[in-house]
Amino acid sequence: MQMRKIDEILAYNEQFVENKEYEQYLTTRYPDKKIVIVTCMDARLTELLPKAMNLKNGDAKIIKNAGAIITSPFGNIMRSIIVALYELNAHEVLIIGHHECGMAAIDPEQVVSKMVNRGVPENVIHTLHHSGVNFTRWLQGFNSVKESVENSVDIVRNHPLLPPGTPVHGLIIHPETGKLEMAVDGYEYLRAQSENR
Ligand code: ZN
Repeated sequence: MQMRKIDEILAYNEQFVENKEYEQYLTTRYPDKKIVIVTCMDARLTELLPKAMNLKNGDAKIIKNAGAIITSPFGNIMRSIIVALYELNAHEVLIIGHHECGMAAIDPEQVVSKMVNRGVPENVIHTLHHSGVNFTRWLQGFNSVKESVENSVDIVRNHPLLPPGTPVHGLIIHPETGKLEMAVDGYEYLRAQSENR
């Protein structure tokens, strides 16, 4: 019988700890580079993103979700950013979307029909719908990664609880080469803001 995935992981883990392979990763909870990153859960970015940005263990807070999208100023992701800035010594925010993102192609209606195909009873969908769950909004992706990054940056930099003067940058990473493009320069924005004052 094939080893179950979680058993495989646990067996490897036992060796990892026993051989003290963790020693090379020892660090503190405070990010040495004082940055908090919001990026996508895309599997291609797991190692590529930190390597392409010269980030080692302990350098950054990294928050991930589907699409690196921030939708709500008082949601989960924004709370993590606020905690990183006030409690964990981060001073700058980087939102990093990427080309060829799964959230770019997502069709909420199709996802819902997949739910039904996978065994979620249709009446559950109807009940949720009638109790106010807007699937189209909840599962919404984006057409342009640049626009999406800009929207997320907007939510963060306009947040009433953001420490004033915090740079919020927007970037786009290529999921194969790791090449970064600047979409929003947080320093420029702060400079322009202080000049307009
Ligand atoms: Zn993605």
